[in-house]
Amino acid sequence: MQKNNLGYPRIGVKRELKKANEQYWSGKISRQELFQVANKIKEQNWLKQKEAGIDLIPCNDFSFYDQVLDMSMALGNIPSRYNGVVIENRENTELDLYFAMARGYQKDGLDIKAMEMTKWFDTNYHYIVPEFYKNQKFRLFSNKIINDFTEAKRILDKTPKTVIIGPVTYLLLGKEKEEGLNRLDYLKDILPIYTDMLAQLTALGAEWIQFDEPFLALDLTEKEQQAYTEAYSYLRQSAKGLKFLLTTYFDALEENTTVATSLPVDAIHIDLVRAPQQLGVVLAALQDNQSLSLGVIDGRNIWKNDYQQSLDLINKAIGKIGKDRILIAPSSSLLHVPIDLSQETDIDPEIRNWMAYAEEKLEEITELAEIAEGNTSLLTKNQDTINSKRISEKIHKPVVKQRTAGITENDAQRNSKFAVRQQLQQESFHLPLFPTTTIGSFPQTDEIRKLRADFKKGNITQEQYDLEIEKETIDAIKWQEETGIDVLVHGEFERNDMVEYFGERLDGFLFSKNGWVQSYGSRCVKPPVIYGDVSRPTDMTVKWTAFAQQQTQKLMKGMLTGPVTILQWSFVRNDQSRSETTNQIALAIRDEVVSLEKAGIKIIQIDEPAIREGLPLRKKDWEVYLNWAIKAFRISASGVQDETQIHTHMCYSEFNDIIEHIAAMDADVITIETSRSDMELLSAFSDFKYPNEIGPGVYDIHSPRIPTIEEMVTLLEKAVALLPVKNIWINPDCGLKTRKWPETKLALENMVKAGQKLRAKI
Ligand code: GLN
Ligand code: ZN
Repeated sequence: MQKNNLGYPRIGVKRELKKANEQYWSGKISRQELFQVANKIKEQNWLKQKEAGIDLIPCNDFSFYDQVLDMSMALGNIPSRYNGVVIENRENTELDLYFAMARGYQKDGLDIKAMEMTKWFDTNYHYIVPEFYKNQKFRLFSNKIINDFTEAKRILDKTPKTVIIGPVTYLLLGKEKEEGLNRLDYLKDILPIYTDMLAQLTALGAEWIQFDEPFLALDLTEKEQQAYTEAYSYLRQSAKGLKFLLTTYFDALEENTTVATSLPVDAIHIDLVRAPQQLGVVLAALQDNQSLSLGVIDGRNIWKNDYQQSLDLINKAIGKIGKDRILIAPSSSLLHVPIDLSQETDIDPEIRNWMAYAEEKLEEITELAEIAEGNTSLLTKNQDTINSKRISEKIHKPVVKQRTAGITENDAQRNSKFAVRQQLQQESFHLPLFPTTTIGSFPQTDEIRKLRADFKKGNITQEQYDLEIEKETIDAIKWQEETGIDVLVHGEFERNDMVEYFGERLDGFLFSKNGWVQSYGSRCVKPPVIYGDVSRPTDMTVKWTAFAQQQTQKLMKGMLTGPVTILQWSFVRNDQSRSETTNQIALAIRDEVVSLEKAGIKIIQIDEPAIREGLPLRKKDWEVYLNWAIKAFRISASGVQDETQIHTHMCYSEFNDIIEHIAAMDADVITIETSRSDMELLSAFSDFKYPNEIGPGVYDIHSPRIPTIEEMVTLLEKAVALLPVKNIWINPDCGLKTRKWPETKLALENMVKAGQKLRAKI
């Protein structure tokens, strides 16, 4: 059995790469210094894996920014707008061109937009989307792949495995930027470049190439399946000496199983954490000379592996194809988990003992291989830990479980239908036509961040902290009143982050000190960990919301984060279904909604920006997910009287294919991000497909630009053409926490004026 790792986190244990990148960008360190940091991280990663006993150690999994962008550089897929970045008398090098593509370039009289970024499958990692144009030429451009191999080989004193994005996945990850073009047609153009690289690697003594082809675990068209056959027979022909490891993850091969196994590759990697059920089918379809890499250790979560569960899978595979054809591996690259658990000195040791970060997962690979060879004491020790988790009172709270077990259809229904509620709410609120509001947060200024940091460090008391937050809140309310906004918000000044704030107040959550995971480029996130049954010991937002309502005669909107979003942006326990955990969170939020209502809050917003990103990768699984996710939202929203108005908010996403489910959320008002698409996204809600009230965002909050009154009126007129007038609200696209006050004020003043203008016109 071989021990195989697919990829290792590259930000560094202390986020060294993040810091060095940012320093380089701001001109504080030289290119050489940045390379030094990068080389050190690579070296440490390689040696760590060698020490852990990994046989197939990945190289080229390191990236300064993103591995898909690296591939674009390798293939010379550089959009022509970057042509001016590297010219002779400019200091710029390939690295600066690379960063220009990732981040845009505003220097030397140039103003070039960055390439688009999007989510890497269903992870929170974002990659740089390759762009494709007509008559495009490709050429071997960057030597990173080759250099990385040489470096790794020297440091390891052993042949590393080169990781590259497979040609079909590379094309599918991209986007055609012109009409009349199918990016798959470029397969024949990029294959020779792959061949060139493989030839160079062969000459340098390479053995294994890991081709990442996660698209094989997704729904494919026939043309796409065909592309796989074409691509790999071509590569096989031209790189006879290399061993190919075709790597899939995040879902099952399913109907693509024989597409994959009939390819001339030496081994196939499958994800047995997400899709253990595929093992039998894949084993049966494997060719006699093919090995199978078993992805049994979770590359997407932070829990210790249940060795017995993995061993059952490994033994099944051994029984069918024998030890020699088996590799043991994590389910996916370890890029998606934090690095070193031993840094987490503040986590309750009992709970920490149930966890594993990347470094610990390397050890798990080796231990599993040993257990499969007969080391039973390792297995016993592991099973003791797993069992302690199974019965721990820290995790299992009978009251919580009883409550979710007792959820009825009724709990997920408002008392009356929307039409009745709308009437009652109108009579109670007396809001004008096209009421104006905002999405919740106001600028989180440097002073507020510093205040929070000081409070966390213990430099200031709770009283001092509260006093400052009160001041900010009062100012924001006074300003909203003066500006003439109809439904006010308190500004969320007391919140660090929309999930963390709630996680810190709920039982069953913990926060790591160093559990950073790369989100994109130099940006890292530290997701909360849901380790146990979730409950709400006490009110979470009532104090600040009630305080805010006391400052004004106008309606104050309470602000909560929804259950699906809290789940989606956390590391979730794996000993019960995601839907069960979501229901627990939903009940906690429901109780908070009811508490707010009792405290006199008449409008409550439950944000669910992450509903769409939770969609399973395979279409056939959508329905099941949407049913429990939408129901969880309804559970959180349905504890209140008809007169209480529930809002929800979602950021930029397609709604067309899930509009019925969005409607089934039955929020009285939904606010969505629409301005960047010129209200195009709104069309999903027209033609009576969406009966409730809607606030289509009228300006983009991602830039400091101040929208004009006229352009917002124009957008609103588009909305008026699509929707019943009495259902339309006016609001920005999203929360304003990343903006500065001056632009926020000017933009919202214009927004209010746009509302007045529109009312006068109708
Ligand atoms: N209420 C949140 C805010 O305004 C919503 C943020 C979001 O949609 N991501 O910040
Ligand atoms: Zn938003």
